Amino acid sequence: MAVAAAGVAVVSLGVPVLTATARAQEASGAFDWFSKATAAGNSAGASAAQDKEATPEFVSQATAVDVIGDQDETLFQLTLTRGVTAEVYTLANPYRVIIDLPDVGFALSPEAGRDARGLVSSFRYGQFDKGKARIVLDTTGPVAIARARMENVRSGSGVVLTVALKPTEAIAFGEGTGGGRQPRAASNESTPTRPTRDASARPIVVIDAGHGGIDPGAVGAANLLEKNLVLSVAKKVQEQLETSGRFEVVMTRSGDVFVSLNDRLAVSKKAQADLFISIHADSIEETYAQSIKGATIYTLSERASDAEARAIAEKENASDLIAGLDAGDGEDNTDVKNILIDLMKRETANFSAEFSRTLVRSLKTNIRLSRDPQRSAAFKVLRQTHAPSVLVELGYVSNPEESRQMQSASWQVKVADSIVAAIESFFAKR
Ligand SMILES: [Zn+2]
Repeated sequence: MAVAAAGVAVVSLGVPVLTATARAQEASGAFDWFSKATAAGNSAGASAAQDKEATPEFVSQATAVDVIGDQDETLFQLTLTRGVTAEVYTLANPYRVIIDLPDVGFALSPEAGRDARGLVSSFRYGQFDKGKARIVLDTTGPVAIARARMENVRSGSGVVLTVALKPTEAIAFGEGTGGGRQPRAASNESTPTRPTRDASARPIVVIDAGHGGIDPGAVGAANLLEKNLVLSVAKKVQEQLETSGRFEVVMTRSGDVFVSLNDRLAVSKKAQADLFISIHADSIEETYAQSIKGATIYTLSERASDAEARAIAEKENASDLIAGLDAGDGEDNTDVKNILIDLMKRETANFSAEFSRTLVRSLKTNIRLSRDPQRSAAFKVLRQTHAPSVLVELGYVSNPEESRQMQSASWQVKVADSIVAAIESFFAKR
């Protein structure tokens, strides 16, 4: 293949280690970065760089980022306080470049990654898994990694990771992608376990704060990130439930970390949840941003209750893609159909609907609801048969007024009060 195909490049300060895929392409003459990278950094320089600013809890800190170039060649450059080993590869559907890093902290502008430049339409970064950080570049089409290297900053301290991207053909792209070797964000280590149930045990409520880490969720006015907002509300719910002493609470995440949708389902299953509540806050296209507001509660259905519900489910289901995971399994409607049949048998669907109604009544007294607050769609995170589950969209971060309101502690406490009241009422009847 004459075209330089994308590969999997493992790059660190000094000599980069090539993986099998990349090595194959190097043999074909496609890679020219090997020799250049060898001449780049050296370990003496690296230790000089290390002593300066690295924040203790991270192995290195990203302090600056830049995307330069054009449609012919685009350079992604990340300045780090010290050298690390980076793994760079490409994925299709949609076209992305993934840069996997060890536990790197990001001290970058919140605006970083929003603007398109050359072959990069946008990028995001954040924690991906325990001790792992990730950068995902969305590209305008199939790209090849032309060069990847890490070298010492010429003046001052730190190192720069440079990834050079060139456009490629879709066919060539397919050959060198990292799709087949995609690691899962396996977070089983942190999955909480619980002792075997006995009849008198307290109900187990799983609180699922949406998004996290590399997946910011919806981005609202004044840089309000859905992941932070929903975690803040989730923690308030947790605190109140735990204080009551009547419930056992399991959180799918309690920090700014990415948790895949499958792992969220696994947490619920492993905890033997009696109720699962996923908390989100959505955004909507500019044209509706002013007029659309209010909370909505969703339950699982094969067919969405309306077009907007379908759009929101699609957006929320894309969380794994945003974090650079493959869309993976269970995406078609047959799965939802089977799960729904199972839900009927177990009456779980009825309980989900009942909790949804209870939550609508409870939220109505404290916050504004959308014009049709009880809806349904094929949300992946609700595909669980063992527990009644709902997904709450607290409001629209894209609505400037609502966005302001949602950030206030008093609003968040009111929402938490309502959710807790609904949980208490739901279990009082069971
Ligand atoms: Zn969300």
